[in-house]
Amino acid sequence: MSLVLPVNDESIALASTLLHEGKLVAFPTETVYGLGGDATNGHAVASIYKAKGRPTFNPLIVHVDEVKALDPLIEWTERARVLAKAFWPGPMTLVLKRAPSCPASLLTSAGLETLAVRIPSNPDAQRLLKATGLPIAAPSANASGKLSPTTANHVADSLGNNVDLILDGGSCQIGVESTVIDLTSEIPVILRPGGITREQLEAALGCKVAVYSASTNAPMSPGMLSSHYAPHLPVRLNAKGAERNEAYLAFGITEGNAGAASLNLSPSGDLSEAAANLFAMMRALDTPPHSGIAVAPIPMTGLGLAINDRLRRAAANR
Ligand code: AMP
Ligand code: MG
Repeated sequence: MSLVLPVNDESIALASTLLHEGKLVAFPTETVYGLGGDATNGHAVASIYKAKGRPTFNPLIVHVDEVKALDPLIEWTERARVLAKAFWPGPMTLVLKRAPSCPASLLTSAGLETLAVRIPSNPDAQRLLKATGLPIAAPSANASGKLSPTTANHVADSLGNNVDLILDGGSCQIGVESTVIDLTSEIPVILRPGGITREQLEAALGCKVAVYSASTNAPMSPGMLSSHYAPHLPVRLNAKGAERNEAYLAFGITEGNAGAASLNLSPSGDLSEAAANLFAMMRALDTPPHSGIAVAPIPMTGLGLAINDRLRRAAANR
């Protein structure tokens, strides 16, 4: 059974230590319980996907305690300042451009140039965020595809031993996820409706806000476009080695040609390590003069499904 503790000074200190060690801590927010990990630690972020059994990498929301903690993470815009002032702390998530040297793992963004950020109001969440001083990546603390958890017991039932500590702060006040609003295009777009309504957002911004729907041409939610995660260079999958000027992205022990440049997702064949390295290594190899990126076969088990899903998109016709 997983360790469940009521929120107090000791459990917060333990939670902070665990998070600094790259472990996972479930904690209450005003929306639903979150499965938290250090957003700057690629291994911790990979283990969030693994613990949830999330079949694909859907980008994660990064939580911080106050507005100035976002300065290193994202590029502020006028609209972001307005919405931050109006609705934070609270159930609103902003999608913004990552800052140039954003310390959050690229896996948090699922390889996108953007980062989703939120400042929760729940006092226990605030206490935890202040104690760690870290940006915390946290999706809902439930197994993928299941109901979101609004009590510590839901988390324990859904995630069992896949979480190192569950902080019990009682029932969540709101119980549905935050409103996700993308501020990176000309018209703000609600990617996921939530506690803050379109009308509230339009009133605060003084402009129209679109609502994403699959049938409109509004900007897409990530993971829906077949070639969303594409690097500049062509990608060749299931390659035993590189050909001529290709760069090679290896996995496990390799005997083939390492090509013009080579990186290994996980020399020991560990899929969590590979997931943590995937987006950063793809980027590192995505430079001239290489003619393309050849990628080793990745097993279709565990996090391998998510890795292969992203690789397929990276290799898809553009
Ligand atoms: P969850 O963590 O389960 O509450 O879900 C997070 C939601 O935020 C998902 O619908 C994601 O697609 C969305 N999201 C997170 N990061 C981004 C991003 N960088 N761009 C667009 N949507 C995002
Ligand atoms: Mg969720």
